[in-house]
Amino acid sequence: MPSLLVVGAGLAGLRAVEGARQAGWSGPITIVGDEPHPPYDRPPLSKAALSAEEQPDVPVLRSSEVIEELQVRHLSGVRVDGLDTEQRTVTTSAGDLGYDALVIATGSTATTLPGLTGLPGVHVLRRYDDALAVRGSLARSRHVVIVGAGFIGSEIASAARARGIEVTVVEAGNRPLERAVGPLAAGRLMELHADAGVRLLTRTTVSDVRTSDRGVEEVELSTGETLAADAVVLGIGARPATAWLADSAVALDARSGGVLCDRRLATSAPGVWAAGDVACVDGERSEHWTAAGEQGRVAGANAAGATEVFASVPFAWSTWHGHRIQVVGETTTADEEDHGDGFILYRREGRPVGAVGIDSPGPIARLRRALAAEPAADVRAHMAGAGGVVPARE
Ligand SMILES: Cc1cc2nc3c(=O)[nH]c(=O)nc-3n(C[C@H](O)[C@H](O)[C@H](O)COP(=O)(O)OP(=O)(O)OC[C@H]3O[C@@H](n4cnc5c(N)ncnc54)[C@H](O)[C@@H]3O)c2cc1C
Repeated sequence: MPSLLVVGAGLAGLRAVEGARQAGWSGPITIVGDEPHPPYDRPPLSKAALSAEEQPDVPVLRSSEVIEELQVRHLSGVRVDGLDTEQRTVTTSAGDLGYDALVIATGSTATTLPGLTGLPGVHVLRRYDDALAVRGSLARSRHVVIVGAGFIGSEIASAARARGIEVTVVEAGNRPLERAVGPLAAGRLMELHADAGVRLLTRTTVSDVRTSDRGVEEVELSTGETLAADAVVLGIGARPATAWLADSAVALDARSGGVLCDRRLATSAPGVWAAGDVACVDGERSEHWTAAGEQGRVAGANAAGATEVFASVPFAWSTWHGHRIQVVGETTTADEEDHGDGFILYRREGRPVGAVGIDSPGPIARLRRALAAEPAADVRAHMAGAGGVVPARE
């Protein structure tokens, strides 16, 4: 019986297993992941997990009973190091595994800054174990420096302020969220930080972090200013986790480094699909929950013989200082209009193509439904040339 192998046991990987079973795949399925946990959810890691009084549990995506019903073999703590598409095998830290169909769902790896990797009190936030380390650091800190004013950096800033910590956010760009939303929406979002007492420095980078046995002591900025700090958290983006594909026949996108695939999530190699943060679908990489899950489902279904197309309207959410932020459609290069009540609409040639909402779930839901009702080709045509229709999560 043909076998399906899913590499990466995160959201997209789990959804690929579910998509394959729903599409009628009756053969064996193996999902391999290098983390020691069952597939879990990442959004809580930069929100509830950082504020929790007690150590938070792993936010698993499915109960062990549901995983059992899927009849999937989960190899946890196993790293995949290489792929041979001719032989249809992957090399892993636990030996070789064969496949008939393969779904690549290895997500992405948090970007670090040269010289800062491994310094005590300097963190990234991608995995559950990172969240525990950041939470532990916040519990001991009075001053924190966060590098990057994107979604992740802003969520960490919110969690730190909720603990009464003094927070400085250092952003290299001219304005925050430059790659995600227009200047009007970015301004509104930054007001949330100012109101919550976060100090935001733009066009500024970190030039040095001084540590002692106790951890971080001081952070020196490109402006010459020196900040006393107990911890540094980097929220400066993530790269597709594709090192294991370096010598394989699977083509990667030169710009983003993601696995190139079409709207069916098929890669350049026969029998190989890709989904989630690692995938570059039709020239666009999403780094958001909704797309990762849906791409996983479609990739798994197609690996099982279906002919589905990924055509979801881009959507992302975040929570800052108790405010619900939602981003839908194209919000980078279209014209911005302030509609009041935290709703900023984006138009191209007069037609709505996206929106940013701050505590504005009703209008966002209506626009999301309207965009979803447009023929997929129309939506794509309207969003074409936007330089990545999904706002990046940094
Ligand atoms: C802290 C945080 C907060 C977020 N909050 C939000 C939010 O509020 N809203 C939103 O829309 N999105 C949010 N996101 C984004 C969303 O969680 C991701 O888009 C989603 O998790 C991507 O799923 P994925 O399965 O593609 O990748 P992942 O969830 O990263 O899963 C990939 C898995 O593959 C494993 N892996 C990688 N390489 C290998 C290898 N060589 N061998 C074996 N295993 C490997 C990884 O360890 C990982 O377990 C957040 C992300 C993070 C990190």
